[in-house]
Amino acid sequence: MEKREFQAESKRLLEMMINSIYSKKEVFLRELISNASDAIDKIYYRALSDDSLTFEKDQYYIKVEADKDQRTLTIRDTGIGMTKEELENNLGTIAESGTLNFKNETEIEDGHDIIGQFGVGFYAAFMVADVVTVYTKSLESDKAWKWQSEGTEGYTIEEYTKEGPGTVIVLNIKENTEDETYDEFLEQHRLQDIIKKYSDFIRYPIKMDITEERPKEDNEEELEKVTEEQVVNSMVPIWKKNKNELAKEDYENFYNEKRYGFDKPLKHMHIQVDGTIRFDSILYIPESIPFDYYTQDYEKGLELYSNGVLIMHKCADLLPDYFSFVKGLVDSEDLSLNISREMLQQDRQVRLIQKNLNKKIKNELKKMLKNDRENYEKFFETFGRQLKFGVYNNFGQDKETLQDLLLFYSSKEKKPVSLDEYISRMPEDQKYIYYATGDSIDRIEKLPQTELVLDKGYEILYFTEEVDEFAIKMINMYNDKEFRSVSSGDLGIEDEESKEETENEEKENKELFDKMKEVLSGKVKDVKVSKRLKSHPVCLTADGEISIEMEKVISQMPD
Ligand code: ADP
Ligand code: MG
Repeated sequence: MEKREFQAESKRLLEMMINSIYSKKEVFLRELISNASDAIDKIYYRALSDDSLTFEKDQYYIKVEADKDQRTLTIRDTGIGMTKEELENNLGTIAESGTLNFKNETEIEDGHDIIGQFGVGFYAAFMVADVVTVYTKSLESDKAWKWQSEGTEGYTIEEYTKEGPGTVIVLNIKENTEDETYDEFLEQHRLQDIIKKYSDFIRYPIKMDITEERPKEDNEEELEKVTEEQVVNSMVPIWKKNKNELAKEDYENFYNEKRYGFDKPLKHMHIQVDGTIRFDSILYIPESIPFDYYTQDYEKGLELYSNGVLIMHKCADLLPDYFSFVKGLVDSEDLSLNISREMLQQDRQVRLIQKNLNKKIKNELKKMLKNDRENYEKFFETFGRQLKFGVYNNFGQDKETLQDLLLFYSSKEKKPVSLDEYISRMPEDQKYIYYATGDSIDRIEKLPQTELVLDKGYEILYFTEEVDEFAIKMINMYNDKEFRSVSSGDLGIEDEESKEETENEEKENKELFDKMKEVLSGKVKDVKVSKRLKSHPVCLTADGEISIEMEKVISQMPD
C-alpha cells in the first residue's frame, strides 16, 4: 500500500472547500453523480470514434445505495473508470480536472455534455464523510485500484480486484454532532429527494433499492414491505419539461449544475417554440460578471443540442456580441447531428433560432426595465456597457434593438433613466435631448456649460463612459428628437432678442475680443459672448459635431 500526502495547495484548498464553497451539504451527491455521468459519457464519446467499442445504452447506469448499519453511502457507476495514474492525478490534486483534460485532448472538441471542469466537485464528499474510499477499474487496464482518504491529510492507494470497468465510491457518513446532522444522508427518501432535485435530467438511469409498503398480492387488506430496484430520475432534460411544472429553484439548480456561473441567475427564460422551426431553450442572465468575461478566454455562445444530444459546447452564432453575457442552451429536433461549424454559420435553422432568441432576450430585458426596475438597474450596471457597444458597432445596425434598453444618469432624477423616460418629461418648448460628458457625475455637475440648460429647467443626461457619446452619435435621433451636447455652440435655447443683444455686445466690445483672439491665437478658434454663463466667467465650447470629451478620445486613438 502506498501512502501519499496531498500537495500543499491541495490541503489548503480542501479545507476551504469543505467549509465554504458549497452552501448546502447535500450537493455532494450532485457532484458524485455528475462525475459518474461524465464517466459514462466518456465511454459514449470514445465509442463514437473507436469501432472496437460499442455503446449499449442499457448497460450503463449509476446506483446509489445506503447502509444504515454500516453508515455507508455507495455511489456506483459503469463508466470509464480510472487507471492508477489517473487516480493520483485526478483525486490527488485538487483543481486538477481530468474531465477538462479529456475535453482538451479529444478531437471532437465540442462533442461533450460533460459537466465537470473545475476539479473540485469530488471533494464535496468530505462535507459528509470522514472516510472516502474509491474502487475503480479503467476501461483501458486489467488492474483495479483502491484509493482511500480521510480528508485533508492524504490518501493511500493499493491494488484491488474488481470485475468490469467503472467506479465505486463508498462514503463513511459522519456521526451527528451537536449542530450538524448527517443521518439524513442515509435515509432513502431524503436521498431520493436530493437526486430528484439536482440530478433528475441526468441521461443515464440512477437506480436505488427502494423499500415500500404495499398491499399483499394474496390479501389486499394486509401490507408488506417490498424492496425493488427503481430508477429515481426521470432522465427528461429540464428544458423538455413543462414550464408550469418548474419552479424558480429548478432553474437556479440547473444553472449551478451546468456551471454557467457560481452566482444565482438574475433572470431565467424558458423558451419553447413550436412554429416553422421547433426548439426549446433555457437562457440565463447572470447576476454578476463571469470571472473571465474581460479576458481573451471568454467565449460567448450557447450549448447546442440536437434532440437531447449535445453537438456543440459553445455555439457563438446563436448570440450577438452585445448579448455575450447570456448563458444557456438550445435544443432543436430540426438540426442535423453532424453539423459542422462552417455549416452552422450558414444554416438557415440556426439563423432563425438566433433571430428568435434575440427578440426574446430583448423583450425580457424590456419587461424587466418596465416591471422590475431595481433588478434592471443592477443588470445595466453590470452589462450596460455591452449594450452601448452594441449600438455603436456594425455601423449602428442594431441600434433599433438596443436603444430602448439604454440608461443614462439624469440631472433631474439623480439616477439612471431611459431615453423614453427622458422624452416623456420634456417640456413642449425643449428642442433637443441634452447631454454632458465628463469623467464623473461630480465633475459634470460642476461644468459651466450645464448651467443654462439646467436653469431652463431642462434635464441633462450625464455621460461618464467613453462609449456613451459614440453610441448616441450612432442613434442620432430618438423619437424625432436630436441629441445635443451642452457644450455645443448652438443649444437651441437663445431667443431672437438675446441673440441680437449678444451681437450688439460683441460689436461694442470688438476691440477687446480682437485682443483676446490675438493672445489666444492657435489655442482657440474664436472668442464669443456667451449667454449661458451664470457663475463662471468663461467656458470652452466645441466647434462642430463632437464634444471636447470625444475629441480627447479620438486624439488618443492610434492612427
Ligand atoms: P471535475 O468533475 O470538475 O473534473 P471532480 O473533483 O468532480 O472535478 O473530479 C475530478 C476528476 O476525477 C474528474 O475530472 C475525473 O477525471 C475523475 N473522476 C471523478 N469521479 C469519477 C468517476 N466516477 N469515474 C471516473 N473518473 C472520475
Ligand atoms: Mg465533477
